Amino acid sequence: MKITDAVYALDSTKGNYVYVVLGKEIILIDTGRSKNGEGILSDLKSMNVDPIDIKHIFITHHDMDHTGSLAYLEQATGARIWASEEDISVICGKKNPDGLKKLVKYIIKVNPPKNINPYPKDHKIGNVEVIPTPGHTRGHVCLLYKDVMFIGDLFRTSDGKITPMYSLMNWNNKLQKESISKINKYHFNWICPAHGEPIRNKGQINEL
Ligand SMILES: [Zn+2]
Repeated sequence: MKITDAVYALDSTKGNYVYVVLGKEIILIDTGRSKNGEGILSDLKSMNVDPIDIKHIFITHHDMDHTGSLAYLEQATGARIWASEEDISVICGKKNPDGLKKLVKYIIKVNPPKNINPYPKDHKIGNVEVIPTPGHTRGHVCLLYKDVMFIGDLFRTSDGKITPMYSLMNWNNKLQKESISKINKYHFNWICPAHGEPIRNKGQINEL
């Protein structure tokens, strides 16, 4: 699904969207669940994007519906993988996730990638600004590309409206609220969530 000339939501990942940014270097935002890998590659193929054209994979946070196909896509693309320092330790299995997610980890196993880089200290990679937005997880980030804000699980959308995440799934609800106010200070025309459909930003974030 086309969002802007350079940004597409990959149809096979509807429900927990993976996005592709066709910038100077092609970027994937998140990787979906562990069974999403092949669908992601076939969505990209239909856009004439070869796996090896993907230069970066940006991870918004450590949850397994965002990192499930990370190892698969690392191998298929050879892309550089980025995530926040706090969440890398969970992605690589060195630390347990917080709260209820600890239990899920024992039921669903996700392979870690071979290489993963912490986001740079200046919060910039190419044309993407990395915005730390802790709350859902300790190291959750939003990613701003031009006028498109990729919000990961900062909130979701439902029937064209922004909707809070289930508070039980957040590491820290107070920080989550602060992070929502933080991104409201940025200028963007599109909100691209993992869960729910992308919507135009009508300045309604403060209502959360
Ligand atoms: Zn999620």
